[in-house]
Amino acid sequence: MKKNIALLRGDGIGPEIVDSAVEVLKAVADKFGHEFTFTPYLIGGCAIDATGKPLPEETVEGCLASDSVLLGAVGGPKWDTLPGNLRPEKALLGIRSAMGLFTNLRPAKLYPALKEECPLRPDIVEKGFDIMIVRELTGGIYFGERGYREGKYGEEAYDTEAYSRMEIERIVRVAFETARKRRKKLTSIDKANVLETSRLWRKIVHEIAAEYPDVEVADMLVDNAAMQLVRNPAQFDTIVTSNMFGDILSDEASQITGSIGMLPSASLSGGTRGLYEPIHGSAPDIAGQNKANPIATILSAAMMLLYAFDMKAESDAIVEAVDKVLNKGLRTADLCREGTPLTCTEMTKAVIDNL
Ligand code: NAD
Repeated sequence: MKKNIALLRGDGIGPEIVDSAVEVLKAVADKFGHEFTFTPYLIGGCAIDATGKPLPEETVEGCLASDSVLLGAVGGPKWDTLPGNLRPEKALLGIRSAMGLFTNLRPAKLYPALKEECPLRPDIVEKGFDIMIVRELTGGIYFGERGYREGKYGEEAYDTEAYSRMEIERIVRVAFETARKRRKKLTSIDKANVLETSRLWRKIVHEIAAEYPDVEVADMLVDNAAMQLVRNPAQFDTIVTSNMFGDILSDEASQITGSIGMLPSASLSGGTRGLYEPIHGSAPDIAGQNKANPIATILSAAMMLLYAFDMKAESDAIVEAVDKVLNKGLRTADLCREGTPLTCTEMTKAVIDNL
């Protein structure tokens, strides 16, 4: 297969980790007989420096014309004092909205080789966990009507949560399809004891459940879910939830894996269009030092192969290579407790050697 991949390297460690993932993708292409073409575009702080804008039109057009997009990370202290609409992070919302990415998939998996990094009790760690959070990304309170007004007690601010049937149906269907490809267990998280949007959400989940009799589905209130994630994360397989609840719970889930440099993510539209990126930021404290852990970006590339190109064997090959490397005790500095850590380039080579 021939595929065009847009590269948004971004700032800080972004260029180092994206280049690592590209090396791995090239090795996969050689091994499986594919042809991947990579085209870089500017985003974030580097785009502000070069063009005055965090998200130049050329970048949006390039991403829309590509088969898929791989993003590093944006931002850094150099641009922290700019006004909100000129901040590097603004480009992330811009590109998600331009590409119509309404689904965010965030796996949170505890690697047996990295058990010591998990902050939970040993008996919980022993059971392990492998969770996929499906978060709605373009609706809800982050996009609802908001403002300031004069209230009964003076100055007042408000934000509104609204969800349409269409928005809920499409994300819930993605979640059922995702669960079907995993352990066939879906937990829908809401606040239906208080919120109308949650009551509509729950009703639609139950309606769509009838189309997926092979998937076991359960509702859970968000406050309980926040507790269950640290009490018994092994109970979860696939989780589906709204934009704000997903934002908070996916960060909680990533923290219990203990290794921020390991976690990939995918943001998808209804078709195969998608943007793949690590969940961590641009790590300015270690940028340019060849110390970054490239695995989150390499695993984001593996998600791209699976979700954008339907290349399951190729994607599995990357995931298995990462497992092998970790099982051999190879670690970058963020995960290294003893011995000499691998540099970013050494870790990349180790993954390629184990493909
Ligand atoms: P961060 O994720 O960049 O870093 C937090 C800590 O984790 C740092 O100590 C960093 O060195 C370490 N770390 C992160 N990724 C690592 C990796 N791959 N290997 C080794 N260590 C790693 O979060 P932050 O410090 O809060 O933010 C730094 C900048 O990144 C800010 O400008 C922020 O706005 C931006 N940011 C961007 C994104 C994105 O582009 N999607 C996401 C979050 C933060």
